[in-house]
Amino acid sequence: MFVSEALNINEKNHLTIGGCDAVELAKQYGTPLYVVDETAVRRHCRTYKDAIDKFYGGNGLVFYASKAMCNLETLRIVCSEGLGADVVSGGELYTALKAGMPAEKLCMHGNNKTYEELVYAIESGVGRIVVDNKPELDTIDAICREKGKKQKVLFRIKPGIDAHTHSFIMTGQIDSKFGFALETGEAHDIIRHALTLSSIEVGGVHCHIGSQIHELEPFRQAAVVLAGLIADIKAETGYEMKEMNLGGGYGVMYTEDDDPIEFDKYIEAVGEALRAACDEKGIALPFVMMEPGRSIVGTAGITLYTVGGIKDIPGVRRYVSIDGGMCDNPRYILYESVYKALVANKAGDAAVDKVTIAGKCCESGDLIGKDMPIQSVEVGDTVAVLTTGAYNYSMSSNYNRIPRPAMVMTKDGESRIVVKRETYEDLIRNDI
Ligand SMILES: *Cc1c(COP(=O)(O)O)cnc(C)c1O
Repeated sequence: MFVSEALNINEKNHLTIGGCDAVELAKQYGTPLYVVDETAVRRHCRTYKDAIDKFYGGNGLVFYASKAMCNLETLRIVCSEGLGADVVSGGELYTALKAGMPAEKLCMHGNNKTYEELVYAIESGVGRIVVDNKPELDTIDAICREKGKKQKVLFRIKPGIDAHTHSFIMTGQIDSKFGFALETGEAHDIIRHALTLSSIEVGGVHCHIGSQIHELEPFRQAAVVLAGLIADIKAETGYEMKEMNLGGGYGVMYTEDDDPIEFDKYIEAVGEALRAACDEKGIALPFVMMEPGRSIVGTAGITLYTVGGIKDIPGVRRYVSIDGGMCDNPRYILYESVYKALVANKAGDAAVDKVTIAGKCCESGDLIGKDMPIQSVEVGDTVAVLTTGAYNYSMSSNYNRIPRPAMVMTKDGESRIVVKRETYEDLIRNDI
């Protein structure tokens, strides 16, 4: 019945997460409240890591895409599980370094890394920078020459696979702000150019084909396409790139309509496809990297709210207003994302109600979801929205000057604060 193995129902008919009563957590820490189960995060990290060992002889590294949920404790946990991290800004880089992540296990992304961010990344010694465009490559080379450093880079490639559609198509992806196109020869050109730069170590190629993907085939195809590029460059220049980063995008369960694939299956499928492609093309098996974000933290997290007003509009719908909304979870207003919600204090009851959960911001689109099936809701109930671990806290805002919620982690029936609730004082901290 649940979208996450971290969730259960106790003898009081209350939702539990990581063995903690969600209603008690709401009382103890207040709402809105992000709750993340540490055990689930660790389990997801291990699934990926073990799969690289089992299906790919350990010849790879898993990077946690920190943009999914970026704070010190999450990065410490991921780091202690042996994963590296992806960062896409100076702020994410700073957080990862402060969390103790070794710089060589960091991968720097972004389609417009500023000069200052590039200097920061290079001076910190990040293991890899994923190059997005030619001016950026030349800037990296110039910074490295000035500092007497050599930087390993990967190239972000548009493999021409659109995995956002269900029947993915092989064209039409040239129109993306990220990376170098294959079809136009742009990808080949930039790699040949990089091979002439003395301060650049050409590590390999990268792609990221989308997000919340529930199929194996796009990943297989992406791996084969990138292997083809490695073989092309080898044939043209004699230089064989050793690394391939296949990005993230592995889907998770938001509602019962999602049918995610076990994470380790991705590595198994990609491993098989790569072995065949590399054999055929006469190149060595590359060192493989993956960058899961959502699938590490997504189902590990829930958000707890308290129900305020309830409004019945006869023949239209029933609005249930909560004490959070688009500030802590902007995914409905951004993408009309679908979530599962339940009344945490009646978790085992049948979902007999159908309600539209509304946030408290001054926007009609500020909803958690429309016409969501849920237990019968009353004022004062604790509502839990599930699968909010990814892209909720990290996308949160202070719109309407609403302080960000606290984040609590659970582990084996214990809970602790990992991000403090913002105060009104925090809101004006930088105002002059
Ligand atoms: C967003 C992103 C990821 C993570 O994607 P998920 O869908 O959260 O797994 C990985 N790599 C890159 C380059 C990204 O932009």
